[in-house]
Amino acid sequence: MAKSKNPSILTPEQILRYSRHIIMPQVGGLGQKRLMASRVLLVGAGGLGSPTAMYLAAAGVGTIGLVDGDVVDLSNLQRQLLHDTDDVGRPKVDSARERLQALNPEVEVVGHQVMLTSDNIMGIIADYDIVVNGADNFPTRYLVNDACYFARKPLVDGSILLFEGQATVFLPGKGCYRCLYPAPPPPGAVPSCAEAGVFGALCATIGSIQATETIKLILGIGDSMAGRLLLYDALAMDFRMLRYRRDPKCPVCGDAPTITRLIDYEAFCGMPTPAAVAH
Ligand SMILES: [Zn+2]
Repeated sequence: MAKSKNPSILTPEQILRYSRHIIMPQVGGLGQKRLMASRVLLVGAGGLGSPTAMYLAAAGVGTIGLVDGDVVDLSNLQRQLLHDTDDVGRPKVDSARERLQALNPEVEVVGHQVMLTSDNIMGIIADYDIVVNGADNFPTRYLVNDACYFARKPLVDGSILLFEGQATVFLPGKGCYRCLYPAPPPPGAVPSCAEAGVFGALCATIGSIQATETIKLILGIGDSMAGRLLLYDALAMDFRMLRYRRDPKCPVCGDAPTITRLIDYEAFCGMPTPAAVAH
């Protein structure tokens, strides 16, 4: 498929592919070009990363980075739609890249087949405009929060367990994950998806909200979820929105921060390493 040699001009094919977005005044040709020039990093190519990545690729987000050190497991396929049965045993970043490029060959997909640590995270997120958190474990979730705050990157956060999901957006200066949850729970206090289960279709609801908020941020339209935490209960089919503010006592983004460098929680709190936790 031919890409436009001049990125400031959309090809007829691009105009057709993105026509349902371009026709909307909130997007238009200018917005489409903004999407095509944007770079978004997804943490996790699993339950949340799957729907988010597919909608971002379909929308023509120019560069999609995927961080995931895992290989596809048969138990992932109940909800992780980036991967097929034939992909079992393959690195998730490889099967995800194939799926996304089949959907939209215009999109560049960069696979980071690593576990995020305090040593590598700043270098990885430096290349991206927005980070989307689909981490499945607390050490990574806190690491991504702290790194995004230190790097002044918008973070589109989402999490799922059993029948419940949460989503919000953290913008620099408008609160962070630690304003809501200052420290990780002690090891074993909160079950993982592998231990407790996760309702498959829930991933699409929360992941789609993350894709929506990411695209809105890129386009600069609407009201972002910054300052609002969505709580979704699929079993009751109940959506609740809680308002929050930056906590002046937050250990990271507060007025007198006590955490000023990245922490590898798994190094000392004895949680399973991310590789041992199923998505
Ligand atoms: Zn904070």
